[in-house]
Amino acid sequence: MTRWNRRRWLESVGLLAAASTLPAPKSITQLKSPEGSGKMKLDLSEFQPKSMLHVPETKVARSKFPVIDIHTHLSITAKSTNGVGIGEKMDFLAAPETLLPVMDKKNIHIMVNLTGGSGAGLNAAVEEFQQPHPDRFLTFTEPWWERTNQPGYSKFQADEIARAHKAGARGLKVLKTLGLYLRENVTEGPLVKIDDPRFDSMWDACGSLGMPVAIHVSDPEAFFLPTDRFNERFEELNNHPDWSFHGHDFPSNSELLEARNRVLAKHPKTHFIVLHVGNDAENLAYVSECMDRYSNMSVELGARIGELGRQPRMSRKFFDKYQDRILFGTDAVPNGTDTPQQIFGEELYEIYYRFLETEDEYFDYAPAPVPPQGRWRIYGIGLPDSILKKVYNENAARILKVKL
Ligand SMILES: [Zn+2]
Repeated sequence: MTRWNRRRWLESVGLLAAASTLPAPKSITQLKSPEGSGKMKLDLSEFQPKSMLHVPETKVARSKFPVIDIHTHLSITAKSTNGVGIGEKMDFLAAPETLLPVMDKKNIHIMVNLTGGSGAGLNAAVEEFQQPHPDRFLTFTEPWWERTNQPGYSKFQADEIARAHKAGARGLKVLKTLGLYLRENVTEGPLVKIDDPRFDSMWDACGSLGMPVAIHVSDPEAFFLPTDRFNERFEELNNHPDWSFHGHDFPSNSELLEARNRVLAKHPKTHFIVLHVGNDAENLAYVSECMDRYSNMSVELGARIGELGRQPRMSRKFFDKYQDRILFGTDAVPNGTDTPQQIFGEELYEIYYRFLETEDEYFDYAPAPVPPQGRWRIYGIGLPDSILKKVYNENAARILKVKL
């Protein structure tokens, strides 16, 4: 028996705790308080409570309707400096042959690779996924951030959108680079504003070519607060200190969202897929206001079912009201271990399906021993078929102009 099989076998007969990626917990004696008060001390990072609730657990192995995952990252720009992608060279995170069997099993008809790069990088990304499997993979292009400080950038970027469109790009992806990393001298100097007019021709080019803009602006509200004992995402920020946008010269979360809103208002003919539930899943009332104000806005779910699922009644109302403008997305990244809520694989999709299709209660939003985006669990919203169909594929198919 190999070590792994032996472990599995021991687990199956209840002789060993289920496999965990965290270190084994310290023995109980080490948890005892040195003062002998009888109270034990336990490091937060070692606390992995198991729910004692006896509630239905539904396994949703396949989505009820075919899925378009509008938010995946199958390639990334190989080089980045201070959060800004530099150069055209791309890294490919998985081959189509490893993705397709999982897609078939989970009923995913199309994956949209948002980070398709620009120039030669975009050509390579199209060749890798979309060209051999045009019915299964679509590609978005990205702005040439490193040229944003050069004269004539506005026209160059608009022309590049047209060129990317000819090369097969179906939309434009804007990372949170804009607003949080891109600076006047690309990697140095003051931050460039999201509504800087040098990008106007880029937004307009997307509108006239019918290319939607998938935009990520700002980040969770907690990332703009001190990483302290009051921060609900303390562990996540403690694990990734570079994700904190508290202090320094960063704008506030609301300043970033308002700058984004000015772009939406100024370019009404361009469709914006505002990722991560409108970039403010913690505040659905605000996202609703934006949806009411901007008819050129839709939202996507990627990496935010942890937020939606902890406010199931509010979420359910949001899905009812905006059922024609919500797109299924996961923010899936093949491989890696850093962000369990995003690792492409069967488990990830099963959690999304369970959230959307069932009324199961208090389950994990990510395949991880400790909830990685905050210590809470989620509740399914049990959408009816008519809304499920729209969210799983119809809304995305309309915006991307594809037939399933
Ligand atoms: Zn993403």
